[in-house]
Amino acid sequence: MALSKLPDVEITAFEKAPAAREAGAWISLTVTGLKVLNKLVPPSEIEQISYRPPDRAVYVTRHWRTGEDLVRRYTSDYIREDTVQARTHREPLLKLLVKHHAEGVVKYGRKVVGVEDGLEGAGLRFDDGETLGGFDLVVAADGLYSTLRRKFWPEHHVAFKGAVAYRNVFPKSLVEGIEGLHDDSSAWRKDGEVVFLSELGLDKYGVVIIRGESAEVASKLKWEHSVGSEHLERLREIYKDWDPVIGRVLDVVEDIQAYPLDSGPWLRELTRNDRVAFIGDAAHPTAGAYGAGAAMGFCDGWALYRALEATRTRDGPVPGKYDVPAALRIFQEARAPFLLRVEKQMSLDVEDSRFVAAAREDEAEWIRRFKERNPENQWLTEHDVELEVQKAIMGRPA
Ligand SMILES: Cc1cc2nc3c(=O)[nH]c(=O)nc-3n(C[C@H](O)[C@H](O)[C@H](O)COP(=O)(O)OP(=O)(O)OC[C@H]3O[C@@H](n4cnc5c(N)ncnc54)[C@H](O)[C@@H]3O)c2cc1C
Repeated sequence: MALSKLPDVEITAFEKAPAAREAGAWISLTVTGLKVLNKLVPPSEIEQISYRPPDRAVYVTRHWRTGEDLVRRYTSDYIREDTVQARTHREPLLKLLVKHHAEGVVKYGRKVVGVEDGLEGAGLRFDDGETLGGFDLVVAADGLYSTLRRKFWPEHHVAFKGAVAYRNVFPKSLVEGIEGLHDDSSAWRKDGEVVFLSELGLDKYGVVIIRGESAEVASKLKWEHSVGSEHLERLREIYKDWDPVIGRVLDVVEDIQAYPLDSGPWLRELTRNDRVAFIGDAAHPTAGAYGAGAAMGFCDGWALYRALEATRTRDGPVPGKYDVPAALRIFQEARAPFLLRVEKQMSLDVEDSRFVAAAREDEAEWIRRFKERNPENQWLTEHDVELEVQKAIMGRPA
């Protein structure tokens, strides 16, 4: 959508799915993501599909057993109302994106299996044997299991890292009247395990559980498929010792879907051969990092758009010409430092989580460590990609 704003550029998106499919559970819209989304979709339309807690709270983090409010984060005061962190679900969000992207840009049912670099531009190979050539720029946005990333980095492997997300979105009426239900987005945390409950807008409510599971348990679960009644019962049993409100919600949930979480190394270099740019999960393959994966993808797309726009000649012998290699350098400079910082933070969080967990026999010390090791992270949730890309543009050689 962002690249479609460039003048004199023809954009084609090849999508392997036969049509836009509405699927998936809830999604947090961070300030970072909304800053970009608001430039592509009217903010009033995003407002209609979202839920925001009444006091600009991001998440309330609670003690897993007592429900005690341990950490409460708010969107910064200076952030405009239409950019305050929100939650929605993927179906209406996808509908909005589809509604606002330029017609005919997406070619469905086209699975890309390879990319070739030639003098006349890049070529794409498809699974039906066809090759299309002459592309000035290929943007690899083919997700976590990116075929194009595997082509350039065959040694990078995406694999199960030991956790499964269980998620469902259902009518809000199902939880109405439940004793102890909070009017916010809450996360109950226990040593790497988390249960989220929140209203999601459009009269929907959502539950997300992220917990460590053995490879054996995960191998029986299928991405975005129901876990079945036996497994749902197992989850109810596991969470019966947690804050009772969780059990009450799980009791009314009729189904829950599984998402075994895979991840792999993030790219240091976001571009290849002055012709290929990697964005979204194709560049940073981690299922669900800080509920910010989609936001990071939006920012990648926006940075690439701004970088290309900045290299377009306005006058001279060939006006309207883009300098793709220069744009890719700007893109790399604008995005890589931030993305690598996020990846580093994930490993620091694992260490912090171990430190907190080591005090599990001493409740007061556990709480003290938990609060100490959960510092503010607006650098991530309120990151300003526009600022970063403008700095990269201004810093490029004349
Ligand atoms: C459990 C979970 C919870 C999450 N929660 C949040 C959240 O709250 N907030 C948030 O911002 N992010 C969240 N994320 C992350 C977010 O969903 C992803 O980061 C985001 O969807 C990535 O977008 P993408 O466009 O890069 O990749 P995808 O959404 O995976 O899109 C890739 C597209 O490429 C197509 N494709 C793949 N291969 C090919 C090919 N060879 N040829 C043609 N087409 C192809 C696919 O069909 C797909 O449509 C979560 C992720 C998980 C797993």
